[in-house]
Amino acid sequence: MPIHALYRGCSQLLDALFPAECLSCRVGMEQPHQLCDACLRQLPKQPENYCLRCGAWAVGVQQGCGNCLNALDKSADASYFAYYYEGQIAQWAVGFKFADHSEWSRLLGWLLWQRLQRELSWESPDLVLPVPLHPLRLIKRRYNQSALLARVLAGFLRVPLRTDGLRRIKRTQPQTHLNAVQRAVNLRGAFRAKQSVVAGRAVLLVDDVFTTGATTGAAVRALKEAGARRVAVTCLAAVHHGETTDPASQS
Ligand SMILES: [Zn+2]
Ligand SMILES: [Zn+2]
Repeated sequence: MPIHALYRGCSQLLDALFPAECLSCRVGMEQPHQLCDACLRQLPKQPENYCLRCGAWAVGVQQGCGNCLNALDKSADASYFAYYYEGQIAQWAVGFKFADHSEWSRLLGWLLWQRLQRELSWESPDLVLPVPLHPLRLIKRRYNQSALLARVLAGFLRVPLRTDGLRRIKRTQPQTHLNAVQRAVNLRGAFRAKQSVVAGRAVLLVDDVFTTGATTGAAVRALKEAGARRVAVTCLAAVHHGETTDPASQS
């Protein structure tokens, strides 16, 4: 029997044994790793009141906050957040990052895509790139949760995933107990981008949780310094303004 026929047979058998169901309420579904419409509607909405460029909390900002407007060549061109970091989304994000639930990437990537499909398609990036972990932390955690999300998004967008475009060259201390200014200092010079991958390209940078923007800000700066033409940032969830001591922010 050819291998693909065998594979199809196995997958049909698995579908018969474990029919797809909503991961929250267990109602029957056509596709696995998804939520039904009713559960999807209950998830915390997209955040409001943030700088449309860097994602920092700001009221009434249309084109960019003061920081962005002062350094346009080093700031993100757009930021898109799918959900507020709270409730079920926060629980999943923590389990995904710290409790070895790498298998949740298909669900979480799909959830992000449900909210941001239009915006990210409009961006039409040339490549998708995750915020990298330092190699030592990657060994400890065994996977980079942002890279798993980025892989799912790259699949939906049908553009290449490049995990070699950005490296973490500085081992930064965990950010949980740092304020916004300390985080920015902690991350200064933490990333280096590869010119041959990003120069002249439109890049979609993917992270799981957005807290103060220190991490993505430092990554964007490195990408722009290496000649990226446009950098858009997307995150599964954004922490409410003022809540900077969440357990999932120590990437
Ligand atoms: Zn459901
Ligand atoms: Zn800004």
